[in-house]
Amino acid sequence: MPKFLIGYDVESQDESTEIFLTAASEVHKNLEAQASIFIVGKTLERNVAVAQKVLNEGYLEFNQHTYSHVLLKTVVQENEEGITIFPSGTFEEVCEEISKGQKVLRDLLGVKGIGFTAPYNYYRGLSDRLDLLEVLRENGIKFIRSAGRNEKDWQPVPFEWQPYFYEPQGFPEILECPLHGWQDCIAREKLGWNNIDEYVKWVKKDIDYASEKQLDFVYCSHDWSSIRHDPKLDHIAELIIYAREKGLEVANSSTYYEEKVTERKDREEVSIY
Ligand SMILES: [Zn+2]
Repeated sequence: MPKFLIGYDVESQDESTEIFLTAASEVHKNLEAQASIFIVGKTLERNVAVAQKVLNEGYLEFNQHTYSHVLLKTVVQENEEGITIFPSGTFEEVCEEISKGQKVLRDLLGVKGIGFTAPYNYYRGLSDRLDLLEVLRENGIKFIRSAGRNEKDWQPVPFEWQPYFYEPQGFPEILECPLHGWQDCIAREKLGWNNIDEYVKWVKKDIDYASEKQLDFVYCSHDWSSIRHDPKLDHIAELIIYAREKGLEVANSSTYYEEKVTERKDREEVSIY
């Protein structure tokens, strides 16, 4: 059964985060739907009480999105507006960002995060950056979302780019989950922020495609964008219900990771005999 993996990048520095966390917790609890949060360390520091409450509800797990949203790789984005460069931090800055992101999760929530979303995402994820994969390994990270851009460092990302382990690179325990289609904030900007109905139709088409091709759908949304014109997150509830109708199972990253590891083990055992 293909999976619908909802991941929220939570990164605001204002009251949006609290509004989002409260609404998301409610939606996921009502629908008994698991999902994953990837939170910026600085954002968590401002929202510890509400984050703890959400964590205790048991439907949303917490992972990191760096300490202060520093890019791991430079993005060379090419679209109808031309080429735009978003520079990465230095290697030292990135090391610090990742270890601090883990520390904040541990100290403030008592969570040992195994998941990570890379700010902005990149074409080919981290497959050409063994040094960065090593840093993630040292920090105990097993599940990453960094390949959410196509060959133009833009979107959409094809659904055929299904999750894969960084095995050829020598990091067989690290699973990459490319973000499929369009990130919510980019799609919604294109459609007009108040045009939620069109956005829901847009994502439903993606769900139809994943269902028809039996592909997993890694979906990316954000705290600040998802609550715009929809503070109760009704559109997320609608997408969860629709995905289930179409035969997709709603899951979180850590369960998905365990399943992928088991699947690989089973495959290896079969090939031995
Ligand atoms: Zn982000």
